[in-house]
Amino acid sequence: MDTILWIVLGLLAVFLAVTAIRAAFFVPKKNNHAPLADESVDRERAARHLTGAIQIPTISYPEKDKVDWAAFERFHDYLRETYPLIHKHLTREVVAEAALLYCWKGKNAALKPIALLSHQDVVPISGGTEDDWTHPPFSGYNDGEYIWGRGAIDMKNHLICVMEAVETLLAEGFIPERDVYLCFGHDEEVVGAEDSGAYRLRKLLESRGITELESTLDEGGAMLPINTKVLGGVLAGIGISEKGYADFEITVLHKGGHSAQPPDHTALGELADVIKDIEKHQFKAKMLPFFSDILDAASRKLPYALRLIGCNHKLLKPLLTGVLTKIPPAASMLRTTTACTMAKGSPACNVLPQKASLVVNFRLMPGTTVADVEAHIRKVVRNKKIEIKILKQKEASPFSSINSTSADAIKQIVLHEHPDAIVAPYLVMGGTDSYFYEPICKHVYRFSPFLVDLSLLLCAHATNERIPIATLEEAVAFFKRYIRLAGK
Ligand SMILES: [Zn+2]
Repeated sequence: MDTILWIVLGLLAVFLAVTAIRAAFFVPKKNNHAPLADESVDRERAARHLTGAIQIPTISYPEKDKVDWAAFERFHDYLRETYPLIHKHLTREVVAEAALLYCWKGKNAALKPIALLSHQDVVPISGGTEDDWTHPPFSGYNDGEYIWGRGAIDMKNHLICVMEAVETLLAEGFIPERDVYLCFGHDEEVVGAEDSGAYRLRKLLESRGITELESTLDEGGAMLPINTKVLGGVLAGIGISEKGYADFEITVLHKGGHSAQPPDHTALGELADVIKDIEKHQFKAKMLPFFSDILDAASRKLPYALRLIGCNHKLLKPLLTGVLTKIPPAASMLRTTTACTMAKGSPACNVLPQKASLVVNFRLMPGTTVADVEAHIRKVVRNKKIEIKILKQKEASPFSSINSTSADAIKQIVLHEHPDAIVAPYLVMGGTDSYFYEPICKHVYRFSPFLVDLSLLLCAHATNERIPIATLEEAVAFFKRYIRLAGK
């Protein structure tokens, strides 16, 4: 017994000694890139142009006849007047109702093109909240620090900074090696839009024989400042995939009748059991490689004492997965999430329901299909008489490799501006126009180069959406550099 104890203690001592040494060397990976050249950016011009863009209310609605198409036309005219060089040197087409496709011919037609995506549309202002805004939502008001208004964060900022970058590069006489496409949809905010602008843009590219893009860059990932006791700097998440989406309606049928003579369980009572079964059987959490990459990059920046744990994150995977699953934002990166969101029973207080139904919203991890979710429901719900209907669905995206010229360009540019940044892959929770380009692109990236804190990011779609003017300069420089590096 003693011998075994000594062996265990000996092994433990060796493990601790190895860990102590590993932690000492477990530091941020070296940035081997050469420093990038300075880029000239006219910040005031970018701010002015963003103000003008916000002043045109390009609001999208699911009902096409509700859309003010004249506003989109004004927006197109505005871009034409504002960016004369782009409209001189690039071809421009209006696709579908109001999507825009620009093509900047590169020097080498044999290379696969890159595409920069954006959407022109914004969400409406929630009824009754118009007066809650510090500055009117379509004023584009510039208070010297922020530009205010709908689209300031999502995502006229991004679109305008792309345009500023291209216009400036043209003024400097730059010509990319590859063709560069600018693809600006008009209905990204309409969830599940059939025949969307982005879809039609891709179809048009395909019809012209462009069956493979080298990369696309769109919204979805972000740069966040981190100011915690143990970790500081900038967290830059490059979205390499987006979760899938499915709404399932589950119905229980029953005889119904008068509520004065009820059975032990009504349809609604039986539905309660269905809810319990579904909530009790959450999808299994699994730490996919992208999440290990985030942990790895973040752990390397921790103080030594915490790196003793951090350097063993691979060993601690099962334990960490268990702990993180208890934290909803972290859990959403580890598993397909399940949310029972709506339920209905009978239409009157004194009527037994003849049917009771429930809507469950699932956000699917890459690798889990909508069919898998349906099979899961059928397996875990004990009541086998349920009826299942899919109301809305979108499969999860495949993962784009983080090792490509374009992803490397993003990393390089971020590290140039923020040498202390943690740059890591990221799983996007919502949907973006990028999704529609996946059939013709293996390197689909979602990243907005605006360093804003979480409270500002959460203003998107909400009251007082605004962007710090200081971020525009870095964003325009980012896109200029990105076109230089990814367009090579
Ligand atoms: Zn958006």
